[in-house]
Amino acid sequence: MAKKTAKPVKRVNPVKAAKPAPRPAKKPVAVKAAKAAKKYIYSFADGKAEGDRTMKDILGGKGSGLAEMTNAGLPVPPGFTISTAACNLWYAEGRRLPQAIEDEMTAHVRKLEQVAGSQFGSTSNPLLVSVRSGAKFSMPGMMDTILNLGLNDAAVEGLKARTSNGRFAYDSYRRFIQMFGNVVLEIPKEKFEHEFEAVKHAHRAKIDTDLGEDGLKETVARYQALVRKETGKPFPQDPVQQLKAARDAVFRSWNNDRAIKYRRMYDIPDHIGTAVNVQKMVFGNSGERSATGVGFTRNPATGENRFFGEFLVNAQGEDVVAGVRTPRPIDELKDVMPKAYKELRAITARLEKHYNDIQDFEFTIEDEKLYMLQTRSGKRTGYAAVVIATDFVAEKRMTPRDALLLVEPAALSQLLSPVFDPAEWKKLPVATRGLPASPGAASGQVVFTSEHAVAWAEQGKKVLLVRKETAPDDIHGMEVAQGILTATGGMTSHAAVVGRQMGRPSVVGASALRIDEKAKVCAVGDQTLKEGDWLSFDGLTGEVKIGKVATRPSEILQVLAGEMQPQQSDIYRRFSTLLGWADKVRTLGIRANADQPDQSELAYAFGARGIGLCRTEHMFFGEGRIEKVQRMILADNEQDRRAALAELLPLQRGDFYGVFKAMHGEPVTIRTIDPPLHEFLPKREDLMVDIAKLEARGGDAAELAGKKTLLHRVEQLHEFNPMLGHRGVRLGITYPEITEMQARAIFEAACQLAKEGLKVLPEVMIPLVGHVKELRDQKLIVDRVAAEVMKEQQVRIKYLVGTMIEVPRGAVTADEIAQEAQFFSFGTNDLTQMTFGFSRDDIGKFLGVYQERKILDRDPFQSIDTVGVGQLVAMAVEKGRRTRPDIKLGVCGEHGGDPSSIHFFHKVGLKYVSCSPYRVPVARLAAAHAALSVKVGD
Ligand code: PEP
Ligand code: MG
Repeated sequence: MAKKTAKPVKRVNPVKAAKPAPRPAKKPVAVKAAKAAKKYIYSFADGKAEGDRTMKDILGGKGSGLAEMTNAGLPVPPGFTISTAACNLWYAEGRRLPQAIEDEMTAHVRKLEQVAGSQFGSTSNPLLVSVRSGAKFSMPGMMDTILNLGLNDAAVEGLKARTSNGRFAYDSYRRFIQMFGNVVLEIPKEKFEHEFEAVKHAHRAKIDTDLGEDGLKETVARYQALVRKETGKPFPQDPVQQLKAARDAVFRSWNNDRAIKYRRMYDIPDHIGTAVNVQKMVFGNSGERSATGVGFTRNPATGENRFFGEFLVNAQGEDVVAGVRTPRPIDELKDVMPKAYKELRAITARLEKHYNDIQDFEFTIEDEKLYMLQTRSGKRTGYAAVVIATDFVAEKRMTPRDALLLVEPAALSQLLSPVFDPAEWKKLPVATRGLPASPGAASGQVVFTSEHAVAWAEQGKKVLLVRKETAPDDIHGMEVAQGILTATGGMTSHAAVVGRQMGRPSVVGASALRIDEKAKVCAVGDQTLKEGDWLSFDGLTGEVKIGKVATRPSEILQVLAGEMQPQQSDIYRRFSTLLGWADKVRTLGIRANADQPDQSELAYAFGARGIGLCRTEHMFFGEGRIEKVQRMILADNEQDRRAALAELLPLQRGDFYGVFKAMHGEPVTIRTIDPPLHEFLPKREDLMVDIAKLEARGGDAAELAGKKTLLHRVEQLHEFNPMLGHRGVRLGITYPEITEMQARAIFEAACQLAKEGLKVLPEVMIPLVGHVKELRDQKLIVDRVAAEVMKEQQVRIKYLVGTMIEVPRGAVTADEIAQEAQFFSFGTNDLTQMTFGFSRDDIGKFLGVYQERKILDRDPFQSIDTVGVGQLVAMAVEKGRRTRPDIKLGVCGEHGGDPSSIHFFHKVGLKYVSCSPYRVPVARLAAAHAALSVKVGD
């Protein structure tokens, strides 16, 4: 049974799977459009930009933000954006740009030199630029960046002369060679570090800042020698050549492993490419009157309306996000540089209003003058998203309809994730504290590398990823971990940003942790933790404790279970307000897939109004039931089978009674038995072992005979291809007494409730129908039994008989099937399986490679394949309605809880989607998003 019962298909780790180099898509549409437009580079300088906020597709998020801020008169260092179309063209033309674009770039460089009042390579006032990636959708840390570009042996002297700071100039040059050497020339970082350590050692310098100008000059010389040795060429001295190479490296980084993996995780298309932003450098590291920082207009972890962020004095932007130094909270900037702080507050407040969303910004202060380097909508936890959306409405900034769009439906799942049992949590002492970067309770076994995290998680273990700091390469480990804990880094470090986005509880900058990743140990105070030891932390408070702590349901679940009053839980009230708005907007109904009364109650509490799929066979596994089911299967004549079914009848009736009652009169779709019968019997191999053992020790003769009979029946029922075998409607046709028993149980329960004065609406659903005659056969039985029961019980109830559409022939002949079916429920799990011919249980073996090779973008069992499977759905909708205009149409495959599939189902005009109880809130919001953004029939 487990085999057939829909489980999310395990994804193959694409990082580990074989990886041929990804090929760019054949000239995408954007390339053709851009070629016609003949403009690939857009400047922003001195209060005037050639782009604006509407041009994210072409300028990327960062480029369009810089353009918009420039146009708004904000202090933005001048620069230009090389468009995403140029990136796509670069790939399409075999990794080079046509001369016309090279010329366009040179012209922009000249223009930038003019507005900046400095020249590339100048020995008195050199122009230095940053070169940064920026795709339409933010992909933090996934692609490459190069700072201080333009430095060479002459310009470094120019920088020294202009700043009267030789140490600063040579430190910048050293950083530039290292970054360029690593990113562009692909020389491993460690080789540079090795040289740097040697110089530090010779100068007896403990940390970087102990090295003076001489030491840094020596480092530069060593780095240049290293470049020559590794590449056979000197370090490039021409800034325009440097720029071209850096630009191409950023284009190339669009297809590095981590960027590809990130796009898979967040469904970002591969073909859109990245823009490249070239911008005059401003120096946050030019002394104690300079600083750099990042922040959010509101707290992105909790949503609290409080200015939030951090900064470092005398540092470059990468130092803050890299998590190497722990930065200071932004409030302290007020005391250090009050004028710049005040200006930053005013500008960011203006930006939040302008964009009508919380902003995530980057700034640099050079000699007390503030510059804005980025603004974009801030990524936030699901928790924060709900708080911000409801606050924006309360602050009368937007309508509920607009606020709904500020919350990603899938993020609502985070609000349902467990919290610690406070009593259990209190029992352990706090071992240390870090910064609460992403809320949620995490308890697991410590692992120190992402590789181990993946390997252990594959064995079913719960792991906590504990690292000094995380890097973009850790993404696969972070994905499988219960939570992420780091020793360094701030609230905007990689671990914090990515943890929040994934909804993984994260605590960062727990500086008391002394982690030895090589030895796989971690010391805190006088305690030492080895790999595999249990650790727990609270992502909302930052507290870390040694040991395992039980978790318990989120506040929302506690309120729904009646263990907490709604007025005690702020988040519950906001959550239900938001979903109340969603319910007003959506046109799709939301039902749940549930087979037990308690699941049904939870689903109802989450807002499901109806059961879309009750898999009756799940009920066969309850206490003391499986033996009865086996007796039914083992019976070799109808009489014995009926006797066994008679024992099952009251049990099923009881379950149906509970499910109907939990749904308060809403429709309940009950499906007749679906899986092949052998799934209810023991495995053949196990039985053979048991028999051999019994025979060897001369065991009980009756037991031995019983096992042998069972084995015989198991062998009889063996199928080569059970998913296409004796299952679904075929069982009901060959053993009509099973359908009879199930129909009787359904109608007896329904009549009982009706007699108690309660409303019930049963919908009996026949699975796996591919031919109208199959359905006709079963419908006759259901209608006959319904009539018999109603007569016996002396009550009349309304009911429907319908079918699943999950066999391609069923979809193709939906007009015929609708002659018998009063409703269709699309079983998109089987429909996907049978349309692609991919076994839903085995797709994991090749899906990773399919995705790598771009044969499939997404797992079709998670997100509906609109082009293929979806067309069968659309066809069946149309045909079904043609025969029976009022036919009820819904979906009960796993796709019913997937936001992008929900968009599709809305569009093709289904009446409802049905999903697992925990996905119901997600589906309610996704259905509202669909109603706000697409029209039925579009
Ligand atoms: C389906 O096939 O989509 C479905 C809901 O049925 P099951 O997953 O039980 O096969
Ligand atoms: Mg099915």
